[in-house]
Amino acid sequence: MVNHEVKSLAPGLYFVATPIGTARDITLRALDILASADVIAAEDTRSLKRLMEIHGVPLGDRPVLAYHDHNGDRMRPRLMAYLSDGKSVAYASEAGTPLIADPGFDLGRLARVEGYAVTAAPGPSAVIDALTIAGLPTDRFLFAGFLPNAKNARRNAMIELVDIPATLVFYESPKRISQMLADAAELFGGNREAALCRELTKKFEECLTGTLSELAQHVSERTLKGEIVVLIARNTTDEGDVDIEAMLKSALETMSVRDASEAVAQASGEKKRNIYQMALKLQKDSKT
Ligand code: SAM
Repeated sequence: MVNHEVKSLAPGLYFVATPIGTARDITLRALDILASADVIAAEDTRSLKRLMEIHGVPLGDRPVLAYHDHNGDRMRPRLMAYLSDGKSVAYASEAGTPLIADPGFDLGRLARVEGYAVTAAPGPSAVIDALTIAGLPTDRFLFAGFLPNAKNARRNAMIELVDIPATLVFYESPKRISQMLADAAELFGGNREAALCRELTKKFEECLTGTLSELAQHVSERTLKGEIVVLIARNTTDEGDVDIEAMLKSALETMSVRDASEAVAQASGEKKRNIYQMALKLQKDSKT
């Protein structure tokens, strides 16, 4: 069965979303673009060629170029040269939507600045899939991508998000998920509603829901594999169940008393003066 049409494409850059698991999650328009573009560029050329093969999209003798975080500076001029020759260039990242925790931002921005048409064949993205199934509010959400690897940087990044009135979405690796949820339970408060969505659209898809404490406990007793999205609902309690002292201790590990107080006051809604006093005391106690 041939699911695509070969069409004459207008010149320009086409971002193409690809499946995040199940190969059939690709739009007919995405296949048309892959079948018709003059030039194909991909974060992982092997996986894109395989996807095209699965869907019966012939490559012919069209150029296929790798474009990823490590060669972007070198490859952008080459791709711009194709665009300046009036060619259509399709770009796909390894899975899901390009630019969403994936390469493509610098490429799209440069193409736009240089006056070329930029469009997309939208499709799967793990952030949207997780929001769709997790049962947490979707009217406002903040995609926070991957947290930093280093412990302090990760905790400080979380502190900045504690008081955001939106569902927070994180991408996380199975290696760090246990520590991430433990930190989140401490900094956001164990009673916050949350969800962990794993292996979306794949055979072992699951979506665990509960409070941050429950999820942290669950994950500490089990080894999780695969790809993971974590969602944390906004704080709905008036009194706030965040552990200000824990936030402050964490912030003080990398920030001055003044900056840490500012960050925690903002995150918690507490008066800055009170937080500053608490920070001074913590600092004094840590030196005795
Ligand atoms: N561009 C992709 C998108 O639109 O979702 C994201 C690419 S990012 C490099 C990969 C991360 O996305 C994974 O580590 C995981 O956190 C999340 N992810 C991708 N596919 C997933 C899936 N099938 N199930 C759960 N999370 C997924």
